[in-house]
Amino acid sequence: MNLALKVGIVRDVRYLEHKPGIVHPESPNRLRSLYRMLDKDFVDRVITIEPEMATLEQLEQVHTPGYVKQILSTAGRDFTTLAPDTPVSANTYIAAWLAAGGCIKAMDALLTDECRVCFAMVRPPGHHALRDRAGGFCIFNNLGVAAKYAIKRHGIKKVLIVDWDIHHGNALQDLFYSDNNVLYLSSHYMGWYPHTGDWEETGEGEGTGYNVNIPVPKELEDNDILHIYRDILTPVVRRFKPELILVAAGFDAHQRDPLGRTRLSEKAYYWLAQLVLQLADAAKGAPLLFSLEGGYDLWALVNSVREVLNVLTFDGRRGRIPLVSTRVGREVVERARQVHAKYGVWTS
Ligand SMILES: [Zn+2]
Repeated sequence: MNLALKVGIVRDVRYLEHKPGIVHPESPNRLRSLYRMLDKDFVDRVITIEPEMATLEQLEQVHTPGYVKQILSTAGRDFTTLAPDTPVSANTYIAAWLAAGGCIKAMDALLTDECRVCFAMVRPPGHHALRDRAGGFCIFNNLGVAAKYAIKRHGIKKVLIVDWDIHHGNALQDLFYSDNNVLYLSSHYMGWYPHTGDWEETGEGEGTGYNVNIPVPKELEDNDILHIYRDILTPVVRRFKPELILVAAGFDAHQRDPLGRTRLSEKAYYWLAQLVLQLADAAKGAPLLFSLEGGYDLWALVNSVREVLNVLTFDGRRGRIPLVSTRVGREVVERARQVHAKYGVWTS
């Protein structure tokens, strides 16, 4: 079946107003470059979704009122350091409010069938933003807020979060650690910030087995990541049957990235997007939201996101996922299966 997908893109110039400083890697130029690419290559192929601010109530599903107040208190101040790696500028609070709100707006578009797939091209990113603490360039937990909103407002019962950023999404893990309605799956290199996300962090209480961490080696190549995702994500989707799939879409595992840098090329993201889309189709057409996380080399970021959009906006017959098999792939998949076999959430 060929689905002509309607792809919604969340974008807004106010996201450029978050200025963490000229040497900071999470620069407004990231979105500037992506928006330029969109206008050049995808202008007739996507729908623009204009974000609105998240409400206090929506933010406080994830963050403490004191923390939300703290972010608001940075308004109009030239420079505030929320965490050593997370400085903010006078209008950062607007961008942060809109980043969470953009994901909410995308959620409405998805869950009212206005779009089948959305990509929130927002900043600051979110997967390291804890309930009461900024860090790792993140302020509000954009996808966490979106997931809570989908559950509360739209009655969604099962959410899958796929995090392919090279850093572990510690705050997404934290938020849903004891929740069996939200399955968090992350591939990451543990040598980098925030150094969490070990195999044995599998969830707690009712959420035990619903947190799938996949530490990967730094020598990771395109075929490795494809093998790993094909053999782990496929049974996860088949067994968990998500009604909604969120992707913490970081592009810092790219070989050119100054922070992440494994051996991936932009082609890896083409195949990952293809796999996720195919699995969403198999899960009764579960709506799909990609939200931008990391990715700090502008060339790598633009070309990787372009590959994802090539997949999402293509309405012809989709190519088959290559049946690659690698040594790294086999080792990682075997370890994941060993760790999770006792829970049986996706392994049996
Ligand atoms: Zn990252």
